[in-house]
Amino acid sequence: MLRGGKRQDLTPSQAQNRRMTDAAADTSPATASGRCLCGAIHFHVPLPPKWVAHCHCTRCQRAHGAPVVTWLGAHESGSTIDDPQGALRWYVAPETGAERGFCGTCGSPLFFRSARWPGELHVARMQFTDDVGRAPQAHVNWDTHVDWLAFNDELPKKSG
Ligand SMILES: [Zn+2]
Ligand SMILES: [Zn+2]
Repeated sequence: MLRGGKRQDLTPSQAQNRRMTDAAADTSPATASGRCLCGAIHFHVPLPPKWVAHCHCTRCQRAHGAPVVTWLGAHESGSTIDDPQGALRWYVAPETGAERGFCGTCGSPLFFRSARWPGELHVARMQFTDDVGRAPQAHVNWDTHVDWLAFNDELPKKSG
């Protein structure tokens, strides 16, 4: 489970048992999976996602070293992280308490969670190896988008 600030890592066998239990209990066990660059961390989130959006905020830009980060908002309940080597690290922003999860082995940014979005686990869209069944629906924090990359889509561009 990934609830609250204290998270207990599941061992691989526990995680496997949990997925099997979930699959047996749920008649629609659709999930989308992904992993970090080195493969130390795998994750699975329930489908459909709550939302998918491009974030142009300066904190995402800095944390990912990228002009824009596309996030998928997943239901934290039902999401699992397989991290048998204990590679997952969380950077906690001192100003907000928001947490950014990344692989301590390869450095891949993976997750975001914050009290501002209770019950949600945000996952970097690019880290999925499965189809997530939903296209990005908006640009957010557009007021800090870079002017050296063109965005020609028709999606809404929101300032916040
Ligand atoms: Zn890794
Ligand atoms: Zn952002």
